[in-house]
Amino acid sequence: MRRVYADNNATTRVDERVVEEMLPAFTQVYGNPSSMHTLGAEAEKRIRLARERVAKFIKADPSEIVFTSCGTESDNAALFGTFEAYPNKKHIVTTKVEHPAVLNPCQLLAKKDYSVTFLSVNSEGMLDLDELKDSIRDDTAIVSIMYANNETGVVFPIEQIGQIVKERGVVFHVDAVQAAGKIPLDVEKLNVDLLSLSGHKIHAPKGVGALYIRRGTKLRPLLVGGHQEKGRRGGTENVPYIIGFGKACELASEHLPEMNTRVKTMRDRLQNGLLKSVPHASLNGAKSPRGPNTLSIRFEYVEGESILLLLDREGIAASSGSACTSGSLEPSHVLRAMGVPYTSVHGSIRLSLSRFNTDQDIDHILEKFPPIIARLREISPFAKASAKEVNA
Ligand code: PLP
Repeated sequence: MRRVYADNNATTRVDERVVEEMLPAFTQVYGNPSSMHTLGAEAEKRIRLARERVAKFIKADPSEIVFTSCGTESDNAALFGTFEAYPNKKHIVTTKVEHPAVLNPCQLLAKKDYSVTFLSVNSEGMLDLDELKDSIRDDTAIVSIMYANNETGVVFPIEQIGQIVKERGVVFHVDAVQAAGKIPLDVEKLNVDLLSLSGHKIHAPKGVGALYIRRGTKLRPLLVGGHQEKGRRGGTENVPYIIGFGKACELASEHLPEMNTRVKTMRDRLQNGLLKSVPHASLNGAKSPRGPNTLSIRFEYVEGESILLLLDREGIAASSGSACTSGSLEPSHVLRAMGVPYTSVHGSIRLSLSRFNTDQDIDHILEKFPPIIARLREISPFAKASAKEVNA
């Protein structure tokens, strides 16, 4: 059976070239980078190269890159670390559509003596920049806003937001986990102070990430231990994964044009094909700028989990929302924030592509998808009720 992986916003396949560079670090260059001997120095040299590659990827200086264990750690380190560094500031601005890696730390802070402004989005998933301007206060420690949304692909105007936040002299954190490899990243142009990245979204393995910390930005470390990462993150470095992440960043830059041409063309063909062939289907975030690989469509009168099961039987891996919230039947907070009705939230499917997808993959999805929806609607009480209403 043909297998089509269309869940790349959840995680990606590791590129063979990444694995190749990682392998010697397991059995040959296995020294601790803090050790004085040759094996240690060799490991340290490879980390240095990885740091340069990550820095180049986002146009930063290598000294501004701190390796972490994942995007979640980077987000947590940015938020908690800023509050620790500014004990007199008690306010944070973020949005209602962030990933749980930002939302949940904010909820935790809100339960202490911090106040959090969760900016709303309109029906297209877009922020109101005037609302953002009005929300920044004298005691705002940090503004934390994602670049590209993991569920809808909607891209926020980070450059404009960076300008607004800079004028107010507040620390600006950007969760760029889903933007990396899809949108060019330039920390100078964006005016960001802190920026989160995750390896496994760009064809590196799971379990490695980075936090960019602009030189001079005050931040208390989340992990306190040895002097690794210049005291900014204790813990022996995950050498093989850091090497892999560095290589993945280099490859992501090389493949960026392809993401915005070939991959985007495939995404658009999939989008148009599904909207044309399946009745009562609409695009989430249709009128907003979106990253090139993501497609979030809602199908009325069907249930997302059933669609996923039947797609899986046809060899198609997709998602009904963020992988972190699937498994519970909680409706997507992103789609709810966009005002998508409760029933349609449940019928929403996310398809996310990568450079490993092919035109044949798109043909396969376009062939298998419409009959699945038709079959589910045949047995859906909602579809029957709505047909009756139409006929009445
Ligand atoms: N931020 C965004 C926007 C994400 O999509 C994700 C993962 O889905 C994360 C943060 C968390 O990254 P990680 O899985 O590396 O912890």
